[in-house]
This record gives sequence, C-alpha cells and structure tokens, in this order.
Amino acid sequence: MPEGRRRPGRKPGSGPRHDAKDQRHRSDSAPEGRRRDVRSSVEPPPPPAARAADEPGLPTATVLVKAKRARPFFGRHPWVLDTAIERVEGTPADGDVVDLATHEGRFIARGVWNASSRLRVRLYAFEADVPLDAPFWRSRIQTAVALRRTLGLDDRSGAARLINSEGDDLSGLIVDRYGDHLAVQVTSLAMAGRLDAICDALEAAVKPAGILLRGADRGLSKLEGLHLPDRVIRGTAPEGPVFIREGNLSWGVDLTEGQKTGFYLDQRENRRAAALLARDRRVLDLFCYSGGFAVACAVTGSASSVLAVDGSAKATALARANADFNGAANVTVETADAFGRIDSLAAAGEKFGMVILDPPKFARSRGSVEEALRAYHRINRVAVDLLEPGGILVSCSCSGSVSRDDFLEMLSAVAQRSGRQIAMLECRGAAPDHPVSASCLEGEYLKCVIARVA
Ligand code: SAH
Repeated sequence: MPEGRRRPGRKPGSGPRHDAKDQRHRSDSAPEGRRRDVRSSVEPPPPPAARAADEPGLPTATVLVKAKRARPFFGRHPWVLDTAIERVEGTPADGDVVDLATHEGRFIARGVWNASSRLRVRLYAFEADVPLDAPFWRSRIQTAVALRRTLGLDDRSGAARLINSEGDDLSGLIVDRYGDHLAVQVTSLAMAGRLDAICDALEAAVKPAGILLRGADRGLSKLEGLHLPDRVIRGTAPEGPVFIREGNLSWGVDLTEGQKTGFYLDQRENRRAAALLARDRRVLDLFCYSGGFAVACAVTGSASSVLAVDGSAKATALARANADFNGAANVTVETADAFGRIDSLAAAGEKFGMVILDPPKFARSRGSVEEALRAYHRINRVAVDLLEPGGILVSCSCSGSVSRDDFLEMLSAVAQRSGRQIAMLECRGAAPDHPVSASCLEGEYLKCVIARVA
C-alpha cells in the first residue's frame, strides 16, 4: 500500500502507532515492532514509585523538543518519543512531571517523564498553569464518567468503558465498569505511579464495590518498564462472574480470568447491528469468545441456528454458559481452530445466511500489515463461499495498523476473486464509550463491515 493512500494524520511526528490501538488486548500482546524496543531486561523491573496522593504535580525539569518536531504537540498529540527530544534541562526521575518546550524554550505542554520507555513523555495538559496533581486527575476522570452518562451508559446493571486512554486525555489508562466493579488496565508508568489518586477519583465518581487491576503486566505495559500483576486494588473482587445486562441480554463476565478486561465492550453496537439482520438465518460466528455475536443473533435476532467457534476452551465454556443463561438453545458451540474449521465447513458444502468474523489482531505492527491482509483475505474469501446468495457478512478487524482503507481494499479483492457482489451496508467502528482523540488517531483500531453478498 503506497504511503500516499494512508489516511492523513496517521503519522504525527511524535512516533510510531501504539498504545491506544492496543486497547483491544486480545490473547496477544504488544506489536512486534515495539517488542524490539523493550529494554533488554529479562527480569521484570521494579514497580514504579508510587506518587503521594498530594503530589504537587509541578515540573521538575524541562524537555526541549528538536526544531521542526514541535508541531504535533501544539496539536495536542500526547506522545513524545526519545527521537523528538533535543535535550533535557534538569534530571527528572521516572514518573516526574516535566514541561515540554520548543528548542527555544517556549512552553508547549505538561506531561510525565519515563526514561525507561522510548515514549519519553506522555502529555496530559496543554496549559502552563495546570499542575498534574490529584484535583487534575479527578477532574479528568469526572469528565470521562460524565461523558458515559451523556451516552446513556451509566446503568449499574450494565457495563461501559469509563476511560479510554488518549480518547479521554488519560494516556495509558483504561477503565471498564462491569456492574459495580471496575477493571483497570494501566499501560503507562505515569498512570501506574498515580494509581492511588486515580482510585480515589474513581471511588468518588462511581462508588464501585471493588477495583481490579487487570492485564496490566501484559503487552504494552512492559514497554513502559512496568510489571503490575493482576490484583484487587480497592474493595472486593466479585465472587464468580459478574452479570451485566445489554438490552434484552445478560452476559456473565469473568473479571479475573477473562480476555481483555473480561468482555468485548467495543463490539456492543456491532452485536446489535448484526442481530438486526440475523432473523431466520443460519449463522456462523467464528472467533466467538464468550458468544457475544452468537447469542445476540440467536436471541435478539431470532436466527434459526448459530454455530459459534473459538480456539480457546475457556472462551467456548463462557460462550456455552452465556447461550444457556439467555435461553439460546439453538446455539452450538465448538472449540476448534477457526482456520481449519472454516475450511472443513466449506469442503463439506455447508451454507450459512450470515457469517461473522471477529479474529484476534493479525497485524501487530506496520511491518506485518501485508501478512495480516493476506490472512484477512483468506478467511473472508472462505466466508463468502460459505454464504448463500443474499447472505450477510459481518467482517471485523481490530488491527490498528490495518487502516480502514486497507481493510476495504481487502474486501474489494475478495469480491473480485469470488466473483460475488459484496454490497457494504455499514462500515462501523468501536462503540461510543471508546472515544478516539482527533489529535491521536492511533486510537482508532476496530473496523466492522456489514455487507450483503449476492
Ligand atoms: N467476537 C468476540 C470477540 C472475539 S476476540 C466478542 O464479541 O466477544 C478473538 C477470539 O479469537 C478470542 O476469543 C480468541 O480465543 C480467538 N482465537 C484466536 N485465534 C484463534 C484461532 N486460530 N481459531 C479460533 N479462535 C481463535
């Protein structure tokens, strides 16, 4: 894909795409390109120094940006790579508040220093008179929680992403609410060192029964020199699964063992959109995890039957439980490799009225985009073969480095190769409680195309 075809704004001078696009931690971890960036440490580094909750939040040093590298930061891009830095005035410790300035010393923004990461400074404020103290974090968290209220996602029986990292101006912090419990993922040292202030603010804003740290020692957090094991940080952990409501459906969510923070909240609206088209169709849900699409199609969508497949036995056990819990007797759940299973279904001449593909992240870095697109092409090509005329394809990609254009080009090639007309009905993204900052488009990762295949 020639560079010119990529979406403008993809490459803010601050560095490679990462972090927010990885919010959707599937069973995998960090992009390969970034793995190489990890300091050669084999031993996990010590936990970051916790900041006192009454930290004054004032800068201990000034980081001067190279000439001609300041523009993205005036545009509020929050990531300052080591390569953009000319020099540092002062000797900040990891986790210290620092100011970012032009090479001539003009203030740009305020952020947090981490010499252990190539992403040396994460920016949080763009005004010179704002300290990064506890009231500052509290205000950011209140704003994020208020947005979910605006979105109508504050029902305590449901679930919502309360904080979406850069999308909520809190780079490196993800918070999901499942009923009365919060699952927190930390992927920046800045946030890890301020967990106390963050938890205080979360407790004040949403009064949870418990706050759990989840998945924080995986993937990107390692690139920050973090090693934070899963644990209960406030209150109590739920006993067994948490049950959450989504429309007329209930999901059992495993907050301590499940993938991601327990459930794919980003697909909420896409599950609904797929279900709306599933009536009387035989549905195949490949990569089903805990059965989100499968059960929505069976129950909300009145599909005639659903075959749900995932490679993980833990996932299929959750899918089975969710199907049973919602009274979806016509859902068959299988533990199998999706690539092998889709081929065997095609070889057996099976036909479906709807095929849903929601695979894990195929591209972990820009370098693996071509390979990922081949994998997307392969499964989509077989999915089209499995569809009866007039069937519905629901095709997703959560690879941030595969652009929306790349993904549509892939579907175009599938249409060409299969000789079938693919009419795209909807090109969807993540649910609105996963906001993407226009200053940090790297936060956009999920594509969900719904199409009719003639
Ligand atoms: N559609 C789901 C989310 C899917 S996440 C939902 O809405 O909840 C991707 C899933 O792919 C994971 O559950 C993972 O276990 C599964 N997976 C990864 N590689 C696989 C493979 N080769 N075959 C089958 N499943 C696989």
